[in-house]
Amino acid sequence: MSLPLSIYLHIPFCRSKCTYCAFNTYTKQESLIAPFVDALISELRIVGKWNPYSRVHTIFFGGGTPSLLTPEQLNKIIDTIRQSYSLTPDAEISIEANPNDITFEYLHAVRATGVNRISLGMQSANAHELKLFARRHDNDGMAHAVSAARRAGFKSLNLDLIYGIPHQSLSDWQWSLQQMLALKPDHVSLYALGLEEGTPLKEWVDSGRLPTPDDDLAADMYDLASDLLAAHGYGQYEISNWAKPGYECRHNIQYWRNLPYIGVGPGAHGFAGGVRYASVLTPKKYIDLLTNVTETYEFPYTPATRDAVVVDRTTEIAETLIMGLRLTKEGIQRDTFIQRFDEDFVNLHQDTISKYQASGLLTVDEEAVRITDKGRLLSNLIFRELV
Ligand code: SF4
Repeated sequence: MSLPLSIYLHIPFCRSKCTYCAFNTYTKQESLIAPFVDALISELRIVGKWNPYSRVHTIFFGGGTPSLLTPEQLNKIIDTIRQSYSLTPDAEISIEANPNDITFEYLHAVRATGVNRISLGMQSANAHELKLFARRHDNDGMAHAVSAARRAGFKSLNLDLIYGIPHQSLSDWQWSLQQMLALKPDHVSLYALGLEEGTPLKEWVDSGRLPTPDDDLAADMYDLASDLLAAHGYGQYEISNWAKPGYECRHNIQYWRNLPYIGVGPGAHGFAGGVRYASVLTPKKYIDLLTNVTETYEFPYTPATRDAVVVDRTTEIAETLIMGLRLTKEGIQRDTFIQRFDEDFVNLHQDTISKYQASGLLTVDEEAVRITDKGRLLSNLIFRELV
């Protein structure tokens, strides 16, 4: 298949659990990291054996905390991808890293493995917010991490921030944004705090110990960030993402274009070969299932695959529209859509598109349909009608 493929690798270990986090991660299981890396390599080989896609153009080490892996372990994984897939010479290879775990020496060795993009979870520049989140770093640690990454040769660096935090004022948020901008990242991801089931933060809000985040204030924070980032030369290209020209994250664009990606590792999701799937959650089970595998598996299945569904055409179209509208600059390109599905989606959803075009939430031209600034705030309403 001529479509480019991406690979997501889920590294499910963290030193401690942040209070807002509902990701599939585990603490105090560092002793499993070595057998986990072997299992991950085994899974990559199984998927690679019948992989029908001609090239891999992005790899993303996410988690969890991928920076808990040694450079040697990262190198072994990337080498396996080189051997089992056709990795393009200019592939984007990203790693998420915890500012506390990384030193110049570590990052220098990681850079030598071919990893060329780093994403650091800054989340806030306010000490009381970092404490509320149980994050392990402070602002000095963050500045050291950025400086170490730059000196180690990372030319592409992302910082994440969270807004809409209980007790957070607009000026608290502005302070975090300014501190983040002072670190001169190439890419910025801003996330509204989600209160996820089972997290301490949700429990504190539900029990009244913390106030419920104010949606109107969060919308003001989003607007403030949009203005500030634009003034500093960052172009918004997705609802939650901004970049200096040329630094857009190719891996995440693959998701938003609804293009194929393999997900390996415990709890990883994938969409490839017309199948959307997820893997078993616990590292222990994952390791057991991928040790001494003798059976043959049809792409993209592996012994760790759970919850696989074949995506029918109607679902694929709906998902492509919903995800594509998140790309604020690119939108849904009409020609690309026609090439993929043999239909113009503007005809397929004429009534919905005309209605939201008339109310100023969408723009439509020969090239693309895009969401407007006003539409971004009401994007869920539009998405619901496209399903
Ligand atoms: S470091 Fe990241 S993945 Fe780990 S608990 Fe914190 S937010 Fe979750």
